Amino acid sequence: MSWSQTQQTGDLYDQITIIVGSAIQLLGGNAGVFVVSNEAFDPQSNTEYTLYRLSEQASMLLLAYIQLGKQPSSKCPLATDTLPSTLVKQLGIYDEDAGIYGDGNEVAEPPALERCSLFLSDQAGLLGVLHYVRPADSSSCIEHPGESDGSLRLFIAHLAAGLRSALKSQSLLKEQRRLAAIFQKSAEGILTVDTALRIIDFNPAMERLTGWHESEVLGRFYFEVLRPKDRQGNELGLQGSPILQAFAGQNVANREMVISARDGQHFDVSVTASCVRSSKGEPTSGILTVRDITREREQEEGRSTFISVISHELQTPIAIIKGYASTLARADAKFEQTTLRSRLQAIEEEADRLNKLVGNLLYASRIQAGGLQMDIVPLDLANLVQKVAHRLQVKSPGVTVMVNLPPNLPAVMADRDRIEEVLQNLLDNAVKYSPDKLEVMVACHATGDEVIVSVSDTGMGISLRDQEQIFDRFYRVGNNKTRSLQGAGLGLYICRAIIEAHGGHIWVQSALHQGSTFSFSLPREEKAQLPMVVF
Ligand code: ADP
Repeated sequence: MSWSQTQQTGDLYDQITIIVGSAIQLLGGNAGVFVVSNEAFDPQSNTEYTLYRLSEQASMLLLAYIQLGKQPSSKCPLATDTLPSTLVKQLGIYDEDAGIYGDGNEVAEPPALERCSLFLSDQAGLLGVLHYVRPADSSSCIEHPGESDGSLRLFIAHLAAGLRSALKSQSLLKEQRRLAAIFQKSAEGILTVDTALRIIDFNPAMERLTGWHESEVLGRFYFEVLRPKDRQGNELGLQGSPILQAFAGQNVANREMVISARDGQHFDVSVTASCVRSSKGEPTSGILTVRDITREREQEEGRSTFISVISHELQTPIAIIKGYASTLARADAKFEQTTLRSRLQAIEEEADRLNKLVGNLLYASRIQAGGLQMDIVPLDLANLVQKVAHRLQVKSPGVTVMVNLPPNLPAVMADRDRIEEVLQNLLDNAVKYSPDKLEVMVACHATGDEVIVSVSDTGMGISLRDQEQIFDRFYRVGNNKTRSLQGAGLGLYICRAIIEAHGGHIWVQSALHQGSTFSFSLPREEKAQLPMVVF
């Protein structure tokens, strides 16, 4: 039986009740309770008292009474005494109004009853005591008064064996249910295999990870399902099987490898293998836990990309500033006014670039820490768009900047400085990534709830795959053309954070070598719910 098909423990509770009830009947009793001894009590099984035809309250009364009386022992395993008639009435096995006794017989008076306590032990020690109630002075076929108690002891041995095995099964089932819950709910993938490395169990986390359903992989060779490779992409041979190595006694913990999902996608995982052995020490099954470390890998890669991008972006302006400054500082050199001015201008531009980069880094870290505050007021977008477009036109005379604004564009709710940064960034990118065709267009239009601003260029365009990632921190498109252009991959990340903090969206439509249109939406003034502090 696999872990996904665990049996219920209810059946076993019933089994113990049947054993206890049959024993009481055989001993001539009508009702009783089996109390597990402290030594034999197992919190795993939880069966401390098993009642037979007695209410919980009645069993407590009976046990309280017994505590004060004669106790059975291993030497004298059966202790009996007569119950007081008041207790008989309280136990509820005699119905005073109907005049019916627990066995269904009609009697005028409460019958005289005795309680019997049977000491149940086996070779493993004391198992518990079976207390029961029966008509006074009766005896069962198992007891032979005056003779040796051989039959009674044999009966005790059988009863104890039956009860111990039922209690054990109950405890094992509970244990199994606990393990099954861990297996089912574990966030890590777990699979188990037999000694031929065929899959026996495949938990839901494993299903999510690989896209295979348990029913499709049971009985299959686990290597064939996971198709593991090393980090260099070489197929792992059977000698590299983590489970086989665990069978051979090796410690296999947190080993990194690449596995394939059903759809052929590869991802990085860290696996730990262990082996279950028989009492003779032979492997009986293997367990593989699989942790998806793709995110960790991406973060690591992100960190190293960050370091290389930032160091490159810092080094370039520093080298230019240093180069020009040391040339200008040479005592033996004389410079013409125009040369001097152009070099000083270059130093200023590079210092501005450094300043912008450091500003963006601080911005990005504020976004990450959730500390970006907005000063949101009604804003005339048309005015802002014209201002930013005009500034670009003055700064870059070789670029044709077109503006397309409908009359009566409604006002939006926004932080003016932040939206200016977004517009500036999108326009700078449109120029930067359109090295040959310098035509840029800014357009606005209103919908029912929003105003949408679009910045279009006819430049290099962005592939569909890259479109998904360009808004991520430090992401830069990886081709040589874009890599040769300066940038730290922070601009669009900051734009998105600003727009989303306004309750708007930002997106791109683009085709490679044809151009791109970046659009963002902002809530119209009359529709906006004023956020106090966003992010
Ligand atoms: P940066 O420009 O500093 O690299 P951004 O976050 O502004 O960072 O842009 C991320 C990437 O998106 C850029 O590196 C570039 O590859 C791509 N990109 C952005 N805007 C455009 C555009 N208008 N045309 C083509 N590619 C673009």
